[in-house]
Formats: sequence, structure tokens, C-alpha cells
Amino acid sequence: MIVAALVGLQLAAVPPSVVSVRSGALETVAPLVETSVGRVVRLDRLAPALPVTVRPDGPGRFIVSLFDVAMTLSDQVPYARVGATLIPLGGAPLVDREALLVPLQLVAEVLPRLMPAQLSYDPVRSELRISGARPVAARPTARPRAKRRVVVDAGHGGPDNGMTGPIGGRQKIREKDITLAVSHELARALRREGVEVVMTRTTDTLIGLYDRGPIANERGGDLFLSIHVNAANLRWRRPGDARGFETYFLAEAKTEDERRVERMENEAVRFETAAQAPKNDPLSFIIHDMAQNEHLRESQELAAAVQDGLARVHPGPSRGVKQAGFVVLTTAFMPAVLVEIGFGTNAAEAQYLATPARQREIADAIAVATIAYLEAYERRLGSAGR
Ligand SMILES: [Zn+2]
Repeated sequence: MIVAALVGLQLAAVPPSVVSVRSGALETVAPLVETSVGRVVRLDRLAPALPVTVRPDGPGRFIVSLFDVAMTLSDQVPYARVGATLIPLGGAPLVDREALLVPLQLVAEVLPRLMPAQLSYDPVRSELRISGARPVAARPTARPRAKRRVVVDAGHGGPDNGMTGPIGGRQKIREKDITLAVSHELARALRREGVEVVMTRTTDTLIGLYDRGPIANERGGDLFLSIHVNAANLRWRRPGDARGFETYFLAEAKTEDERRVERMENEAVRFETAAQAPKNDPLSFIIHDMAQNEHLRESQELAAAVQDGLARVHPGPSRGVKQAGFVVLTTAFMPAVLVEIGFGTNAAEAQYLATPARQREIADAIAVATIAYLEAYERRLGSAGR
């Protein structure tokens, strides 16, 4: 009975199962696919009535051209980039068998808002309509100057030890010592390659989470690398077994594991005085105001480069590129990533992380990946300027 009643209710409020595009007499109809993140549509299926082209631009990334507007969309990233502007989306695009699926909201709201002279959307008919007028060209992006100054941020310090471990181990390691040692090695490796380095701390001192970004900004950093050590949740079934490395960029945490690391790293705020930490919740403010943040895609690419680089030396496993709302990253106005170089709660990994030669390897791998990223970034700027 209950099942039948539920089905009845769903049918009564059934949402449209297709979206159509009408351009004069021409009409294209594309199916809407129900997913856990809402209804999505294959964008290329809206052609030819919609004069859209979708072409791949690197792993999980697509350039969507429509009229004179070029938009970059990335798998699992809930923002569309147009020039230097990031537009928040109602949900993240998905890639399924190399095809780009976008939330219906992109078609129903974002595109008509971007191109009001060409597009309008009728929610009753679930129809995007095209009018005849020529579009206005998107603003070209400013070309930033190429230089190389990397900010290296050793996590925690002073009274904030960060995590301690391993679980059940006699010899304890402290996160703040490991991050400082690896950061010094990282600075050395980058300087060896002619990169300027700014360190947020060089000794065992406390630098507030909210101060680390501004230090990076004032010193004119191009990239921000924050080094941390992970800790297992003691409520896990076998917390001492967790190991491996992961690299984060700043975006809303999506999984329980991402939220765990976000909570853990943002905990350090409690070491700061009330005057240091901004009022109300700056984190949610900044995440929701990420149209201001021009560095999402670059941060994501930097994170992928660092994660790949670490995979060459680290016994692993690689836990992948992840996203979370770290306070330390919100205030750095540059591509920024946070690297969890291993689990200090795991006995073998704690020993690995505390070994100077391994610290050097980790630092060298991050440095090589960072330089490769910078070179690719400069090439991209070069070709964009041509
Ligand atoms: Zn940490």
C-alpha cells in the first residue's frame, strides 16, 4: 500500500524527462538522465538546434563553445569558467563514457543568463529557445605575467602539534615537525631549480590559519603548497591500517572522508585568539562566493600534478585528488593545494615520514611536479595570448 501511494505521488509531480531546443522550425530533443545529483543532459545532444560544440581539453575537462562564448567545464567541478569568471553551477558536470553531462540548470538558467540576447528558457515546456540576434563576444582574459614564486606552508607549529602518532607506537611523531622538515627540503629543492620560495614559517612557531594566505598574497606568491600529515579516525574499524597520500584543492567537501580531513585541519583555528579569526563563518562565505576565485581549475591541475609526482616515490597507496574547504587555502589568492603526505597514525608510514632521506624524496617529488605544472601553466598562458 505504502509503495503504491509513493509511486502515485511521484507520478503526480513527474518532472520533464527531456529538454528541447527550438531554433525557428528546427528542434532538437535530448533525454534528461536522473542521477544522484539531479537531472543531467548530454550537452552535445542539444545540437544542431543549439549551435554548441563540445571538445575535450585534457582529462575530465571540456571546452563548450556556443555563439561567441567559450566555457570550460570540468568533471565533478560545480563551476563553469568563462574567461576569468567562475560561474557556480547547481551541480557538477559528469563525464560518462567520454561524454559531458551537465545539470539541467546550466541549460535552463546559466546559458540564458550568459546570452540573454540569444537564449531564453521556457520551464513549462522544458524548452530552450534561440532568437536571431548576434551574440556579444566574451571578454578576453587578461594575461598574467609569468614568474615563479612558490609559497611553502609547513602545517601547524608552536602549541599546535597537529596530529601525533602512530597508534600504539612507542616513538611518537608530531605533524608539525614532519611538515617543517619536508617544507625545508621542498624549499631547498625548488630554489635549486631557480624558483623563489616564501615559507610561511621556518621554525617551530604558530602562524594562524587565517594569516598564512595573506602572507602568501603579500609576498606575491604564484602558488601555495601546504604540507600536512594525515590521521585516521579512531572510530574506524582498523584505524592503524590506514595509509597513503592525497592532495586537496579548495572546494566544498563532498565525501565523509573529505569532511573528516577538512575538520581535522581546520581544528587548528582553536589555537588562534578570537581577534585573529574573522567573525561569522568566512569559510562558507568564501566557498559560496567562489565566483571570485579564479584559481579553481589551476588548483585542481596543480593537485593532480603533485599527486602524480608523489606516486612515483611514495609506497602509497595513492588516495587521489580530493576537495575540501580548508581555511588555510581560502585566503590564498593563487592556485593552492594541501598535501597530506601520509598517515602518521600508521606505524610503518610514521617511520617513513620521520626518515630524513624519505622526507627529501617526498619534497623532491613535490618540487619536480610543481615545476612541471608551472611550465605547463606558462605554456598555456603563452598559447592563450597568441
Ligand atoms: Zn595538518
